[in-house]
Amino acid sequence: MSILVLNSGSSSLKFKLFSLPSLALLASGAVEEIAIRDQGRFHIKWLQKGTWVEEDTCSQFEDHEAAIQAVAASLDRIIRLLPDGVVKAVGHRVVHGGERFLEPVVVNGEVIEALRELIPLAPLHNPANLKGIELAMSLMPDALQVAVFDTAFYHGLPPYSFLYGLPLWLYREAGIRRYGFHGTSHSYVASQAAAHLGGSVDRFKMITLHLGNGASAAAIDRGQCVDTSMGFTPLEGLIMGTRCGDLDPSVIFFLNRELGMSFESIEELLNRDSGLKGLCGESDVREILSMIQRGNNDASTALEAFCYRVKKYIGAYMAVLGELDCLVFTGGIGENSPEVRERCCDGLETFGIAIDKEANRSLKGQGVISGANRRVQVLVIPTDEEYGIAIQASKFLESKW
Ligand code: ADP
Repeated sequence: MSILVLNSGSSSLKFKLFSLPSLALLASGAVEEIAIRDQGRFHIKWLQKGTWVEEDTCSQFEDHEAAIQAVAASLDRIIRLLPDGVVKAVGHRVVHGGERFLEPVVVNGEVIEALRELIPLAPLHNPANLKGIELAMSLMPDALQVAVFDTAFYHGLPPYSFLYGLPLWLYREAGIRRYGFHGTSHSYVASQAAAHLGGSVDRFKMITLHLGNGASAAAIDRGQCVDTSMGFTPLEGLIMGTRCGDLDPSVIFFLNRELGMSFESIEELLNRDSGLKGLCGESDVREILSMIQRGNNDASTALEAFCYRVKKYIGAYMAVLGELDCLVFTGGIGENSPEVRERCCDGLETFGIAIDKEANRSLKGQGVISGANRRVQVLVIPTDEEYGIAIQASKFLESKW
């Protein structure tokens, strides 16, 4: 038996197929650039008689339905090769579960309706997640569809951490609070870090930094997340590839009143044209690093601002946790940029955080980058959101289904 994980985003569909109960990877891949004319790409790799086989196709994928059909057709071939060709469950990433979904759930009509009602809280993410679920339900009707929520990791945040300084009725009646996102990633790397430190997650105090196109920090006190940088939406907190992160809300009124911008265009500006891209015209840190080498000052300032914001959150979360056992870097930037890791930790020696430059620069994959005898272990742990979803969905099915 196997479990398929679908991570359906606005322009991409990532998937991984795992065997049950061992969760060994059987196949993985993605459809990218969905609904972008003439640009679609579908790649898949699967294990065949102990060897990985890969296929890469460029083609147009008009919409999510076309993408998921391509995935289902390829997987069908692969699943037939398995000794027991049954997909027991499909685990879906759902970005926003509001206050209703605190753990994974088996999807039925009522859950679909509830997910639809949550769209206003995550208009940029939940519609694509929902589309993935509905298409999987029709293409794989015999499999249990399990929704796993990014927000669920934060359901134990204390009110003093999740409330904004707004009239309380806005929380009670309109659900305006900090929800937090990237939960699957933070929870996955936290348990990997704990395993690395030689114990279970409930023994350690950690700060996890997911630095990718989207970026967020989490303070985790012995397995319980107590604060996180993303808020009501994934726009708050760290400076990101194209999102602004923390911002004085008055900027929005000023843009509207003084510069005549509509709220739609401000929303677009803050989500798609701000962050690193807004500061230097480029959102990809690889390109920013090469711009810095060519002497581009804006690129230099943009990366400084990015790392400075991360450092501020590390300091804030050290105060929140009181003490710290480990600091974890993950996400495309956190996993691959020694330069960014070094800058984020620069000057934090008094907090027991220091990076061994050589270990940091030479690390490939997972490992420790803090110097010897440092109070805080600094780790790099590659995230695997699909594996994290498979773990959560299969545990849930074992215990409740
Ligand atoms: P997403 O949030 O879209 O999942 P990822 O976690 O894949 O993003 O991170 C993507 C980002 O990782 C890229 O925009 C790029 O800035 C950064 N990145 C990837 N490889 C490197 C590298 N070798 N050096 C620096 N940054 C990198």
